[in-house]
Amino acid sequence: MAQLPLGGPAAPLAPSPVPDRRRARPREPARTGAKPSADPDAALRAKALLVHKRLCAEYHCPIGYFHDLDPVSELVSSLLSHRTRNADSGAAFKRLRERFSTWEEVIEAPTAEVEEAIRGVRWPELKAPRIQEILAQVLARVGDLELDFLAEMGVDRARAWLEELSGIGPKTSAAVLSFSRLRMPALPVDSHHHRVAQRLGLIGAKVAVGPSHAILRAQLPADWDAQTLYDNHEILMLHGQRVCHHRAPRCGACAVADICPSAGSAG
Ligand code: SF4
Repeated sequence: MAQLPLGGPAAPLAPSPVPDRRRARPREPARTGAKPSADPDAALRAKALLVHKRLCAEYHCPIGYFHDLDPVSELVSSLLSHRTRNADSGAAFKRLRERFSTWEEVIEAPTAEVEEAIRGVRWPELKAPRIQEILAQVLARVGDLELDFLAEMGVDRARAWLEELSGIGPKTSAAVLSFSRLRMPALPVDSHHHRVAQRLGLIGAKVAVGPSHAILRAQLPADWDAQTLYDNHEILMLHGQRVCHHRAPRCGACAVADICPSAGSAG
């Protein structure tokens, strides 16, 4: 997924070890007013809100959108970004737009030319025919290469429509609705967001990225707008990039260490 190039380099390691940071923070109920609950779903919802509040303060919500693409372009951008650094997928998208003036031209081009235009992304030999196939499916279903009509469908129906395209899953459908100029209230979950949510105990250790979308969305208020859901995704992603690394997470510098069951033991 495309990532947000926010801010400068990661903050330096906090000198205090994890237990000190955890002791320094008031416990959750005192800080939020949340009452201990016997309902595990309610407890997770309260925890998800607390995580949102803490990380929003840490990463300065509202977070600016990094794209203002039409939804077809966002769809292509999302396909290019899979397992690829932002800079590389962004450069590939730019070359694709320079080489072909319309998405129709991309469909009709020799696949080798599309592959050449997107060189630099991971698996260009797979992504080139996939992009052509998905664009062709959009054209066949809509009669045009546009997806602005999704705005009228509501998030659930729009995501279902997109996920009927071959190979489109919840992450891409949510990204198209949230990151494009449609600005719809959908919650994408990328690998960083997923890892942080797992370590915090918001989702189980065996819940994969795909199913995590519905679980994590259900923990957040149903009436949250597009910006707030976008913020939630971005702050969890940023936390994974800057603090809760795949290896050696910096728990001593973590704003949610006192409510994290993995503090000091993850990575
Ligand atoms: S305490 Fe450690 S494992 Fe838990 S969210 Fe923070 S950095 Fe990640």
